[in-house]
Amino acid sequence: MDLIENLVEFVQETYKTREFIPLHAPVFSGNEKKYVMDTLDSTFVSSVGGYVDKSEAMMAEISHSKRAVAVVNGTAGLQVALQLAGVTYGDEVISQALSFVATANAITHLGAVPVFLDVDYDTMGLSPDAVQAFLEEFGEIRDGGCFNKKTGRRIAACVPMHTFGFPVRIAALIKICNDWNFPLVEDAAESIGSYVGDKSTGSFGLLGVFSFNGNKIVTSGGGGMIVTQDEELGKLAKHITTTAKVPHPYEYVHDHVAYNFRLPNLNAALLCGQLEMLPKFLANKRELAGRYASFFDGSGMKFRQEMDGTTANYWLMCVEADDAAQKEEILKRTNAAGVMTRPIWQLMYRLPMYAKCYRDSQVNAEFLEQRIVNLPSSITP
Ligand SMILES: *Cc1c(COP(=O)(O)O)cnc(C)c1O
Repeated sequence: MDLIENLVEFVQETYKTREFIPLHAPVFSGNEKKYVMDTLDSTFVSSVGGYVDKSEAMMAEISHSKRAVAVVNGTAGLQVALQLAGVTYGDEVISQALSFVATANAITHLGAVPVFLDVDYDTMGLSPDAVQAFLEEFGEIRDGGCFNKKTGRRIAACVPMHTFGFPVRIAALIKICNDWNFPLVEDAAESIGSYVGDKSTGSFGLLGVFSFNGNKIVTSGGGGMIVTQDEELGKLAKHITTTAKVPHPYEYVHDHVAYNFRLPNLNAALLCGQLEMLPKFLANKRELAGRYASFFDGSGMKFRQEMDGTTANYWLMCVEADDAAQKEEILKRTNAAGVMTRPIWQLMYRLPMYAKCYRDSQVNAEFLEQRIVNLPSSITP
């Protein structure tokens, strides 16, 4: 038997089934049903109801943030967070090409332009060295802001992403952003329960954003959360994601061009049930990561583990193939056997709408793009 055959068997034994094994399926074994039924019984399924407030309080605690604001999904949350960080039409926003497409889309929806810089090989997230090198070549501080000397555009923000729940070098990135006078917004969509030291991802930047899409560790069907340490920004996030209605006994008064990006109470109820399960889910995933690590130990293939000083949530487990040919072989044979595996995302500049964006050398991103395979990572029975 070869390694891939062994892998299929190992995954089937781990999930105790020979049927199809998905990449990441949700599990509802706590109070989810009870809370969802409660919203139906009360008829408060939409924009009014206690579960939204409750989920925000839970997320503020989980993410070590002063304020959490529930939104309709992570992409919308990123767009609003970037807007609140000051990103506007014609600006540039530094991010990574190795990400899910939502990061670049959120930047683009504001009329801003993504700048794709390389990731670190080990964290798979935005490289502080790459950001520093870019700014030394193109950055210029004037008029109280940072500008790109070549394009003339303002560099308005930086959005690193904690890939698969492995934290980026956030302290180094924050320092660079401070030195160059623009804010950092964390795309923490994949990193609920991931820490740097004893601090949660999402709590370091001016704002952070989590996702509760169906494939994330906890899900509200669809949903997201903007978090911040700045009470005023938090208030504003709530205001502009809920039509900017000014309290009045009966009149419709609104004071911003705002959004209806509310998380419905129905979804928030599901989220509350899921968030209660988070510690169990994280422990289960950590145990699964340990099993994968033992499986791959000595196999010649590198199973990705958390870096020293960080805690990863192990949202999607991943293994690094020797080369692109081996990656293809793993994908082909595992999927044919009903064990769902997926390649890492195509780099953003391979997609037609982002092909013309600036990018640096992308040595690490391209190396990882050729080799990283995600393995089944659902909660195990
Ligand atoms: C899931 C995800 C998002 C946001 O996703 P939604 O589906 O809009 O909730 C954003 N960025 C990354 C990196 C993601 O993985």
